Amino acid sequence: MADVYGHPDSGHEVILSFDDGPHLKYTPELLDLLKKESLHAMFFVCGERVAAAGGRDIVRRAAAEGHIIGNHSYSHPQLTKLTADQVRSEIQRTHDLIAEFEPAQKLCRPPFGAHNGMVDGILQELGYRVVLWNVDPEDWKAVNKPSKWIDVAMDQISHRSHTLFLCHDIQQTTVENLPQLLARIRALPNPQFVKYA
Ligand SMILES: [Zn+2]
Repeated sequence: MADVYGHPDSGHEVILSFDDGPHLKYTPELLDLLKKESLHAMFFVCGERVAAAGGRDIVRRAAAEGHIIGNHSYSHPQLTKLTADQVRSEIQRTHDLIAEFEPAQKLCRPPFGAHNGMVDGILQELGYRVVLWNVDPEDWKAVNKPSKWIDVAMDQISHRSHTLFLCHDIQQTTVENLPQLLARIRALPNPQFVKYA
């Protein structure tokens, strides 16, 4: 199965993605860091956080600074447990909040990565492409805080030539320790941070 991920010795392409935001404090801190590091990431946002006071301004800033804004539902349910109408509402309500910031090819990451034929059909109908990930360090788990998630992540990233990295900008310990992760990725052979396309 090694070919699925290419040959890591030839280099490491990494796409960064952040789910569950925006967070009023940590997301702006993360945007400051990404700007300083000249990096672009994907942000899969939850509608209820976008709708909260100050939320939309943060999404606007992220889009203006070149980050990709994606739809992570409104209230972060497991979409496969909802009715079709509820799924449509979860996606549409968030779309209505972020439409002006979304790329031409709208992107959706279903919460927990949970999707099925019903969910896929609705996303397709609404013009969304599903974007999952292949590296997940579970940065939200207590056992992986404050910075063990970085070791977990590097163990996966170092074995892959292409990484679509998932973490969470609502986690203080993730945003605070992200510089360590970036430094360790940059220490790999031929590291390259790339934008999702
Ligand atoms: Zn999520």
